[in-house]
Amino acid sequence: MTSKLLKMLFPEKYTCVICDDEVFNKYSICKSCLKSLEYLTGKTCIHCSDPLISMGDYCKRCKGKVFYYDRAIAPFVFDGKIKGIIHGLKYGNKKYLAEPLAIFMADKYTNEKLFADLIIPVPLCSRRLNERGYNQSLLLANAFGKIKKIKVDADAFIRIKETPPQTNLDFMERQSNLVNAFKVLNKKLVKGKSILLIDDVFTTGATATECAKMLKKAGASCVYVLTVAHTNKSQENFD
Ligand SMILES: [Zn+2]
Ligand SMILES: [Zn+2]
Repeated sequence: MTSKLLKMLFPEKYTCVICDDEVFNKYSICKSCLKSLEYLTGKTCIHCSDPLISMGDYCKRCKGKVFYYDRAIAPFVFDGKIKGIIHGLKYGNKKYLAEPLAIFMADKYTNEKLFADLIIPVPLCSRRLNERGYNQSLLLANAFGKIKKIKVDADAFIRIKETPPQTNLDFMERQSNLVNAFKVLNKKLVKGKSILLIDDVFTTGATATECAKMLKKAGASCVYVLTVAHTNKSQENFD
């Protein structure tokens, strides 16, 4: 089959999602765009993946503290082109973007040698779900689960409280907003399991912390957090 025909038949697969150029790789992103993406590289906090400027293994936020999630990882920094792609997935109704993003997440998960029995997408509050029509974290979780052949469950863990926008809030303020926002509906499913929580962006870690707290209380043995991107400034707003 000629490349032109492939592009015509499967435009989303054979067209670069960033520049519309022709593309023939698993990411649906052309070579030159792949080079220009904002990968999370260099030394990062071994717990939350915050880029580290100073010596040591932990960032300021994690040093000496106990968090409920065991590790948070992401293939990208929330910046530039990646920011645009995530916005497209989240606000632009471009659901097909979940697939290429999940491939990068799968690569990262494999490289970090994590092991999860069950994937749980971070639930969206119903007001936002109604506005948007879909939960981008569930799209990412389904695409990722398909690649890594891990079960996804979007019903065992739900959001029971509407939370005000997290705009311009710091970790503590976000955390207090999220108290009692989530509930484990199926404790049997979670008990003794290594859970992989999937979300689009890791900002302050408040959501990851609150979700992991509930899952651990329900008996999860381990909670990992995998997002597409990690903000490079923990105060940056993205809700
Ligand atoms: Zn491109
Ligand atoms: Zn950290």
